[in-house]
Amino acid sequence: MRKFLDNSLLIATQNKGKLAELSKLFDNYQLEIKSPFDFNLKEPDETENTFEGNAKIKAHYAAKETGIPSLADDSGIEVQGLNGAPGVFTANWAETPKGRNFEYAMKKLWLEIDKTKFQKPYKAQFCCTLVLAWPDGHNEVFQGIIKGELVWPGRGTNGHGFDPMFKPYGYEETFGEMDRWEKNKISHRGLAFTKLIKNCFNDIT
Ligand code: IMP
Repeated sequence: MRKFLDNSLLIATQNKGKLAELSKLFDNYQLEIKSPFDFNLKEPDETENTFEGNAKIKAHYAAKETGIPSLADDSGIEVQGLNGAPGVFTANWAETPKGRNFEYAMKKLWLEIDKTKFQKPYKAQFCCTLVLAWPDGHNEVFQGIIKGELVWPGRGTNGHGFDPMFKPYGYEETFGEMDRWEKNKISHRGLAFTKLIKNCFNDIT
């Protein structure tokens, strides 16, 4: 496993929610955190059908364009009663003619699962794959999964995306009701991040 020995790291996402969460996780590390907005990077097309495939596209694109090691996240929610949908296509479910709308996406998801023969509570999991790519083409891959159930109507205004309708097992609050930085520590992203740190960084926690 390659160690990260640079001073700068680019977080290769234009999703403001993910950018905030990943940046926060690096708070205690002496790193200069960059984002695609610092370089006017475009978003490459996500043409793969796995989280890992798409995270690799984003991380390698940013690392090659900027010469800075880059960390990309591909993530989504998988609903058991929908055979794992929306999964890699989670963001697409929010597309409307006026841009992404997660109120709309959450309602659509609930209506889809509610049409099936499955009983409540509906089981779901959030998945995250983090890929750290270096400009020479090397990469390391880490995954995090958190299991829970869907709630409707959604609860809470914290976080982003589908957070209001997901309640992780062992907690009474939805991700949308949790303190955002507490959620960040236990989430799929937080779990993948812990593996990244253990393997590629000096753990200072
Ligand atoms: P992508 O990885 O850019 O394809 O987008 C993944 C989508 O999954 C995001 O747009 C969010 O809607 C959803 N998602 C991923 N992680 C989270 C999370 O922590 N909370 C809520 N929604 C999430």
